[in-house]
Amino acid sequence: MNRKMYGLGSKRSVIREIFEYGKKRAAEVGADKVFDFSLGNPSVKPPQIVEDTLIELLKGEDATALHGYTSAQGDLATRRAIAEYIARTQGVRTDPDFIYMTCGAAASLTITLSALCNAGDEVITFAPFFTEYRVFTETAGAKLVELPSHPDTFQIDFSVLEGAFSEKTAAVLINSPNNPSGVVYSEQTIRTLAGLLEEKSKEFGRTIYLVTDEPYRELVYGGVKVPYLTAYYKHTVVCYSYSKSLSLPGERIGYIFVNPDAKDAKELYLAVCGAGRALGYVCAPSLFQKLVARCQGVTSDVSVYEGNRDLLAGALREYGYSCVRPDGAFYLFVKSPEPDANAFCERAKKYGLLLVPGDDFGCAGYVRIAYCVSPDMIRRSLPAFKALAEEYAK
Ligand code: PLP
Repeated sequence: MNRKMYGLGSKRSVIREIFEYGKKRAAEVGADKVFDFSLGNPSVKPPQIVEDTLIELLKGEDATALHGYTSAQGDLATRRAIAEYIARTQGVRTDPDFIYMTCGAAASLTITLSALCNAGDEVITFAPFFTEYRVFTETAGAKLVELPSHPDTFQIDFSVLEGAFSEKTAAVLINSPNNPSGVVYSEQTIRTLAGLLEEKSKEFGRTIYLVTDEPYRELVYGGVKVPYLTAYYKHTVVCYSYSKSLSLPGERIGYIFVNPDAKDAKELYLAVCGAGRALGYVCAPSLFQKLVARCQGVTSDVSVYEGNRDLLAGALREYGYSCVRPDGAFYLFVKSPEPDANAFCERAKKYGLLLVPGDDFGCAGYVRIAYCVSPDMIRRSLPAFKALAEEYAK
């Protein structure tokens, strides 16, 4: 067998490990005594239009067509609806023939990286980052170059990035709003990044593409804006997913949008189609392609997450914990009160608090708290966070 695949399959991710522990512990001591903040599964139900549209589609459409294969790049009507929506809301040029429907952001990323990279290429990303980036990049035959971000803000540290490019750099991969930090890149960060990518592409004689992983684009709070990347840097590929915005992570639906103005955009789009084919995706789920075509601009009630953020971040600050400003997604990235975040997480378990150490996100000394849980659970967990902080204060 393939040892690498065996390795991936036999070792559970830390997040899954903690989640499984939580289930076991709940059976032992009662679910009300376990505060599981480990998983990024949306806790808000999909908007009503999702159920209504699904029923309408199931009742109204010809079942053979509804459940049949679509074209490999996706249903044309869906790609048109998405292209029209992006153009209307972001004021950028789009084209349905540069959109490729996928089984969520994970597929969008694996396909895009496989389309962009050759063996030995490098993909630069910034810690903290989504743990699966290593797997996706290596599957594409490339190496993930992990750079630290500014410790105070988790914005890109350009003094570090400057020196990280080489003739092997195929792409820079960003994720804003970020999992696990909740940070949204400012417009200034994006402008500086775009300028540096132009400069380094010239210096190394190859176009360095920008891959933007955006499953949390709509999950932002307090009027914060998420700049649309193709408006700032031409050579951009957007990897989108409806997993979080419509609370549909189990349905596996998203898309890739290759900017039609990117260098070799047509060839790159064909390489995307080729990578999707080589990876065996065939086509994205037909029913959900038809659904998202009718749900453009709709999201779940993200105000629930905003309320959770305010409640939890406010309380934790009061108890003496510190974390970077979380403007989006549904995670807090909190500084561990002791240098070893794994030891801190172990201690937190004694209080029923299940947190994820930052090490796998490329950032030791921090823990991730996924606050996509019920507001009631957050309220009930606060005395535990307080007692834990007091233990360190002693
Ligand atoms: N990228 C980031 C940053 C994520 O947090 C996730 C899921 O949590 C994914 C990609 C994968 O999302 P999907 O369920 O759409 O494959």
